[in-house]
Amino acid sequence: MKFMAEYRDPVRAAKIADSIRRLCTRPWVLMEICGGQTHSIIRYGIDQMLPDRIELVHGPGCPVCVTPIEKIDCAIALAKIPDLIFCTFGDMLRVPGSRQDLFSAKAQGADVRIVYSPMDALQLAEKNPGREVVFFAIGFETTAPANAMAIYMARKKGIPNFSVLVSHVLVPPAMESILSSAENRVQGFLAAGHVCAVMGYNEYAPISAKYRIPIVITGFEPIDLLEGIFLVVRQLEQGRFEVENQYTRAVSADGNPVAQDILKEVFVITKKEWRGLGAIEASGLKLNEAYRNFDAEIRFEDELAGRELSASPINCISGLILQGIRKPHDCEAFDKVCHPDNPLGATMVSNEGACAAYWKYRRFEGKITEK
Ligand code: SF4
Repeated sequence: MKFMAEYRDPVRAAKIADSIRRLCTRPWVLMEICGGQTHSIIRYGIDQMLPDRIELVHGPGCPVCVTPIEKIDCAIALAKIPDLIFCTFGDMLRVPGSRQDLFSAKAQGADVRIVYSPMDALQLAEKNPGREVVFFAIGFETTAPANAMAIYMARKKGIPNFSVLVSHVLVPPAMESILSSAENRVQGFLAAGHVCAVMGYNEYAPISAKYRIPIVITGFEPIDLLEGIFLVVRQLEQGRFEVENQYTRAVSADGNPVAQDILKEVFVITKKEWRGLGAIEASGLKLNEAYRNFDAEIRFEDELAGRELSASPINCISGLILQGIRKPHDCEAFDKVCHPDNPLGATMVSNEGACAAYWKYRRFEGKITEK
């Protein structure tokens, strides 16, 4: 495939892995932030190409995985409001709430619709003026600009029956939360290239300096990941801690100013609850005062008031996995009671979740013995 094959070239990959092997003299723990990177690492066996001294742990970069259970319960409660159309990306349907998921709510009659863009939800609102349409706005800095644009357009066009359930999170505060934990093991970060394509990477320099940790902006293909790992390990071995950009074909230091402007127009930064990580100061987005009318939690405050409090599934260690403290194989439920057909935690549901990646590509590891 043109423009793709060069980033999946096995000969080039082996050469970079060899360079890392020659460079590495001590054990290092590296964390990739993005769930897309996690899947590439496990799918292509990048971690198995590295010297044993390098351990890759998987960070909280899957938006589905970090959406708190309370938001899922709120989404289900909204979807059950009579005549309301609830729009979501497809990967949210199977994420377990405290008692059910959106998929089962749909099976029970709730009008839950899968959309591919927030603008699809906005169009649905325009076509159904007699019905309320709510869009589930989740994700990191990558999805937030498009969602902000839909809200901006709803206000500009005067579409009163459109609103959003917001659960947007920001990457840098989550990195700081991991680094400031007493249990932290992470010594170097592969930062998510697509987040930085929007936001740039200037905000990473203070984190790198404060925690004396290398941060390398990295892409998603095998060659990207191996180059990113090489750059992090080279810094660690040389005693440096800087921000470097491996993903130069997509990322500049200042990012995308147009996308940043629409974020500032619609959202303000707020304290945010993360599934598995708890509440983190200044780590999320909420609608600002001018767009308050489009907040579904405010619009349907009365309908949401009576719902029961959420309870996280016991036994699920996804919070520890998202902090790089444990791996999916460490979970007793992995591939026993928890698998994609019966996910107990969000990291098994999402295509980007670490548990789903290990289940898809590594679940037979250790189970097959040679004759
Ligand atoms: S395997 Fe299932 S129960 Fe275990 S951590 Fe992953 S999602 Fe949670």
